[in-house]
Amino acid sequence: EKAEIGLIGLGTMGSNLALNIAEKGHRIAVFNRTPEKTDAFVANAGTLRDRLVPCKSLAELAEAIRPPRPVIIMVLAGQPVDDQIAALRGELAANDIIIDAGNANFHDTVRRFKELEGSGLTFIGMGVSGGEEGARHGPSIMVGGTEASWKRVEKVITAISAKFKGEPCAAWLGPDGAGHFVKTIHNGIEYADMQMIAEIYGVLRDGLGMGPKEIAPVFAGWNKGRLDSYLIEITAKALEADDPKTGRPVVDIILDRAGQKGTGKWSVIEAQQLGIPATAIEAAVAARVLSSLKSEREAAEKAYGKLSVTTFSGARDEVLKDLELALLAGKIAAYAQGFAVMSGASKEFNWNLPMPTIARIWRAGCIIRSQMLDTMAEAFGKGGAEVNLLMAPAFIDMMKQAHPSLRRVVARAAEAGLPVPALSSALAYFDAYRQGRGTSNLIQAQRDFFGAHGFERIDAAGAFHGPWGGTQG
Ligand code: NDP
Repeated sequence: EKAEIGLIGLGTMGSNLALNIAEKGHRIAVFNRTPEKTDAFVANAGTLRDRLVPCKSLAELAEAIRPPRPVIIMVLAGQPVDDQIAALRGELAANDIIIDAGNANFHDTVRRFKELEGSGLTFIGMGVSGGEEGARHGPSIMVGGTEASWKRVEKVITAISAKFKGEPCAAWLGPDGAGHFVKTIHNGIEYADMQMIAEIYGVLRDGLGMGPKEIAPVFAGWNKGRLDSYLIEITAKALEADDPKTGRPVVDIILDRAGQKGTGKWSVIEAQQLGIPATAIEAAVAARVLSSLKSEREAAEKAYGKLSVTTFSGARDEVLKDLELALLAGKIAAYAQGFAVMSGASKEFNWNLPMPTIARIWRAGCIIRSQMLDTMAEAFGKGGAEVNLLMAPAFIDMMKQAHPSLRRVVARAAEAGLPVPALSSALAYFDAYRQGRGTSNLIQAQRDFFGAHGFERIDAAGAFHGPWGGTQG
């Protein structure tokens, strides 16, 4: 019996996705560059083993699938994907579908789409979020390609996706690179979300002198309120865990140097290219880069000494309430930025990205899943949010309530010398966004002064120059 679908790349994501597909009743042919991994994978598949067809070559893989053949590629992003596509082209025939499910840069997806156009093969760029667990039991899936190609894979993709109250967290979002773009911004938002949580942890640890076991229940408590989300949940769990080797809280023995694989950086690059401010995401990426400069930071701490001011004393309940609301406000601003970047890309590339759908398919399965995404999905459905999430009535109410706390937390952290770059960027963005008359009149004056760039007036239409005399040069 032939398989219905094929999958290349049995790493963390690929192996779990293959098991998920098999579990939903589909026979799947699998291939991995290192064949020993294929054998081990099939041997450990338990009862799902019967639905797996191990293949030792791409020719064997192609032969094992019933045409028209859908083949998922789940390998390291970049050149390996191009290599696999090139190798597959020789084995596949017209109407077959290649699905790149890795974290591709959407520019690569657009290029691959063009390269395969006219070959008779169909290409789909598919973002998958939810890590190992999501891949195995239901990820959030963001699809880019032609609508016709989506129709051909929709059944199996929605079957393996996460469900939010029965609704599949998988959707076709637009042509070529749309799915991978949305996945990239998902990850950018994830960076901001994680960074803000880490900043609040820093205030609790260094500003209030709390240990991991004291901080864990704080996050667990917040997880029952409006911050209810996967990232807060795992934060509480991580803070509870002990290192088996030393018996110490595991977070205390983990080196404070964060890794990254590129999607955060790509979010920032695209935001800049599109001219959309995404300052909280930028701050989060920069924070990871700074974290990697461990020895430099240690030397600087010696050179400058530690600040000994503690401005976080006072009624603990009030401080904790402020921290919770600060996180809420910061999170809303970061999501507003992420959605604004997608909105900008949608216009720039004529993608017509469905914002309510994006919010909906992020409600379960993915890393940033949360209660608040349900509120966001609702806001996008009701109107107001398409300008900016900060303009949706539900979020105006929430921000009005929460921004004073964000302000206090950022101010007190600054005085105490505790870095809160993502929270403070979010606050600055919010304050600049809500300021009807800003300070760029002075920027325009300066630009006209030195470069004769001209300016507009508040009281007359047209372009004007200032009375700078002959001093400009
Ligand atoms: P792993 O490192 O676990 O697995 C990588 C896979 O790619 C292996 O099967 C490996 O084969 C294969 N591979 C690497 N280089 C080549 C090559 N040159 N030619 C052929 N195959 C190659 O990675 P993940 O499963 O974590 O990630 C896979 C993709 O999914 C990436 O794009 C990643 O960004 C994305 N992703 C990962 C998530 C995660 O949480 N881990 C979440 C969402 C997306 P071999 O066994 O021979 O080395």
